[in-house]
Amino acid sequence: MYPRLKIYLKRIEENTRVVRQLCAGHGIRVMGVTKACCGAPELAEAYLAGGLAMIGDSRVANLKKLENIEAEKWLIRPPMLSEIEDLVCYADVSLQSEMETVRAINKECEKQGKCHKIILMMDLGDIREGYVDEEELIAAAVETEKLSRVDLYGIGTNLTCFSFIQADEEKMERLAEMRKKVENAAGHTLEIVSGGNSAALDLMMRGGICEGVDNFRLGESLLFGKERSRYTFLPGTRNDGFILECEVVEAKVKPSLPWGTAGVDSYGRKPVFTNRGEKRKKVI
Ligand SMILES: *Cc1c(COP(=O)(O)O)cnc(C)c1O
Repeated sequence: MYPRLKIYLKRIEENTRVVRQLCAGHGIRVMGVTKACCGAPELAEAYLAGGLAMIGDSRVANLKKLENIEAEKWLIRPPMLSEIEDLVCYADVSLQSEMETVRAINKECEKQGKCHKIILMMDLGDIREGYVDEEELIAAAVETEKLSRVDLYGIGTNLTCFSFIQADEEKMERLAEMRKKVENAAGHTLEIVSGGNSAALDLMMRGGICEGVDNFRLGESLLFGKERSRYTFLPGTRNDGFILECEVVEAKVKPSLPWGTAGVDSYGRKPVFTNRGEKRKKVI
């Protein structure tokens, strides 16, 4: 049946190995993101076979599908208060930016007889989740530390997400400085300082990630071998992990410029076309 999407897990496993080693060379451990495949356990297994030990998804329902996968599982966004019960059940780690939520997790952990690891987020300009105020973040770390069932696992930041603000050396240095401040306030070292996604790989390869930032949350680069700031393929990766197969229902040579009066597209914008002469156009 067409259209069909073929997913070559061995190729994704190969990419995972290559990207993991690339990152390891810069002191970065990789957490593999499964949300692009809705938390498919097969994808998680390919990441694990490629050498990862941490798996994450943006939906608790997807993490539930990974119940039988042996790995440290992260919810890579702050949870809703209404999903804390499932969060504690299906995730080991989560990204947090509100103490009310962390307290609720602590309570739920007591109920379920479990522990949960907290990564406190710092907003470095993307206006996504996280504390803008350093003192507030430090106070949150100190309070998290005092709660009995949650562990302060680390800090992190989310860039190139909501406002597409990119990671840069200055922002990474601020995150590393924050690590020291939080470690001093908490009285122990942090295991994780999660500084980026596939859009931070280019900066990493240019030597722009300072010591103290030691984790990336990666999806696209493992799946397609692509970093996401200049959209270049990473050395040694494959870009054929996903193949979309379709049946061509029409193939004719036509002008590339439409004729008539243009309306608006599906998003309410007026389309702009360039004349590339006559082209063979395939309809699928
Ligand atoms: C989706 C997501 C990622 C992975 O982003 P890629 O660009 O696919 O590497 C990382 N962090 C968070 C919080 C995400 O939601």
